[in-house]
Amino acid sequence: MNNNLYKNMALWLVIAFIMVFLFNIISGTQGVIKNISYSEFLQSVQKGEVESVIIKQEKLNGQYMDGTQFESYAPNDPELVKMLVENKVKITARPPDKSPWYMQVLISWLPMILLIGVWIFFMRQMQGGGGGGKAFSFGKSKAKLLTQDQQKVTFKDVAGIEEAKEELEEIIEFLKDPHKFQKLGGKIPKGVLLVGPPGTGKTLLAKAVAGEAGVNFFSISGSDFVEMFVGVGASRVRDLFDQGKKHAPCIIFVDEIDAVGRHRGAGLGGGHDEREQTLNQLLVEMDGFESNEGVILIAATNRPDVLDPALLRPGRFDRQVVVPRPDMNGRFEILKVHTSKIPLDPDVELETVAKGTPGFAGAELANLVNEAALLAARRNKDKVDMKDIEDSKDKVTMGKERRSMVIKDSEKENTAYHEAGHAIVAKLVPGADPVHKVSIIPRGMALGVTQQLPEDDRHMYTKEFMEGMLAVLMAGRCAEEVIYGRLSTGAGNDIERATDIARKMVCAWGMSEKMGPLAFGRKDEQVFLGRDFGHTKDYSESTAVMIDEEVKRFVLTGYNNAKDILKNNMGLLHAVTRLLLEKETIDGHEIDALLAKIESGEIDASLLQPIERKSEAKAESAEVKEGEEAQVETV
Ligand code: ADP
Ligand code: ZN
Repeated sequence: MNNNLYKNMALWLVIAFIMVFLFNIISGTQGVIKNISYSEFLQSVQKGEVESVIIKQEKLNGQYMDGTQFESYAPNDPELVKMLVENKVKITARPPDKSPWYMQVLISWLPMILLIGVWIFFMRQMQGGGGGGKAFSFGKSKAKLLTQDQQKVTFKDVAGIEEAKEELEEIIEFLKDPHKFQKLGGKIPKGVLLVGPPGTGKTLLAKAVAGEAGVNFFSISGSDFVEMFVGVGASRVRDLFDQGKKHAPCIIFVDEIDAVGRHRGAGLGGGHDEREQTLNQLLVEMDGFESNEGVILIAATNRPDVLDPALLRPGRFDRQVVVPRPDMNGRFEILKVHTSKIPLDPDVELETVAKGTPGFAGAELANLVNEAALLAARRNKDKVDMKDIEDSKDKVTMGKERRSMVIKDSEKENTAYHEAGHAIVAKLVPGADPVHKVSIIPRGMALGVTQQLPEDDRHMYTKEFMEGMLAVLMAGRCAEEVIYGRLSTGAGNDIERATDIARKMVCAWGMSEKMGPLAFGRKDEQVFLGRDFGHTKDYSESTAVMIDEEVKRFVLTGYNNAKDILKNNMGLLHAVTRLLLEKETIDGHEIDALLAKIESGEIDASLLQPIERKSEAKAESAEVKEGEEAQVETV
């Protein structure tokens, strides 16, 4: 392939040389020659200033008496020679220029040669001959090849998804020794579909299978097939399989297969669009090759629901392996894999980190470890300690701190009461997730954050939990209202999320007694827009009114619950706010400690009193800027 690259480059170099050469001939620069008009020339001749002239067709070159050179163009003037003779100018006549023979050939044949060259170039690209010049090849697949020795990924690098690994064992066995399986006439699956959210390690897993089996690994993304020109995708699929067979035994990995594998007939405008042709070709190729050729297709997607059913038929992707987000133990294992490559302080408890990162996929955990290592380096440490990890976790989950943002004291106090409200209700409402951290340092778009973390991974939620969540979400606004007796924009995000949750409780989870266990407004299944677009309204107007009422009731109940809790714990609200204003970030245990002190009566009573506000603070009444809403985060 390098050879071809050089050939291409040489071709362009030659062309460039020729261009420069031609340009030089045409513009032919020589000495300083005065360019004069024909009439000027005639005048000079008549005045006797011209010594000699060389006539070459219409072109006149000559010399004045004083030695300066000139040139001019003459019309076909029969009088000219006569006049020159009269004025005693020395005349030389020359035949018209003859360029050397090779230039003439070149000039007359150049366009032809160029055309033929371009034609040959494209023909070769289309046929894909020689396997070269990847950057220009349309019909060729863009698959990247990792040979056995290049890739070192094994199952040891993949953690936390043991079931998926087990399911792929069989594929490895087969790739290692195909004959063992064929002896008994068994058929090996041709394709395995890895299904799971982004970043859970699907690519890694496919690579590890190749690594364990010691075979080549081709990877390509579904979107690489799709090009502007019709037929290109199909030809790339063909090429991919040809390449695969050539390098067998191997694994062909197609990432994001949904880019080509979408339900047929789902494109706007219908009919045979490019994607459909590509998919058809993929199906044809999958039927055409036998897995005993030692080629196994592994594809990954996070949208199995949009795939064309034909892809999932036996003989194609007949195995589906689910690659889920890791649970707490899985996260611990993944963290172990990734921290094994960095120097770790003994104070680091990976269990705690795993516990504090619910919902994190492998890629996010890898990113977290990387961030922590960078942070430790920036802090000039030679080991990564728990603080680095905690800080980068905060950065990843809550957004980067914006310490430079200027916030008025009154706004800060407002935010502190708001977040304290969230935190206290989260502490006291039954069944809610424990408070992990409360902060009034602005991060991202939010002025403050209250973060709750579940004790274990949760896979489902009760109605009580959801009601508690609504109360927690409403608590920020409640606190502002209870303290200041007025509303601010700071609760916009909370309100939006609460409304969404309440609507789902009514419409999707059947948690409203009045509406009953029915689903309202199911997902639209209109094929022509790609199968996942909007909701259909499958209920009557009167039902819509009832739904809206129920949603409102849920949110308002949450609001009232939050208000009751806060009104009964005003002292705590002031105390937590004080602590927040003083420390900016506090964790759940500090609130516990305050609560315990209040119960035992040990607390300094002045801490429970309202915060004395500077007079201006009240007048300004802490408007929170539009768009920069405080938010509560429940993970
Ligand atoms: P996907 O293909 O599912 O989107 P990737 O395989 O590309 O995810 O994962 C990206 C990176 O995240 C990997 O290179 C690896 O560093 C890390 N990672 C993801 N899942 C795991 C896992 N289960 N074990 C170890 N590392 C993981
Ligand atoms: Zn809030």
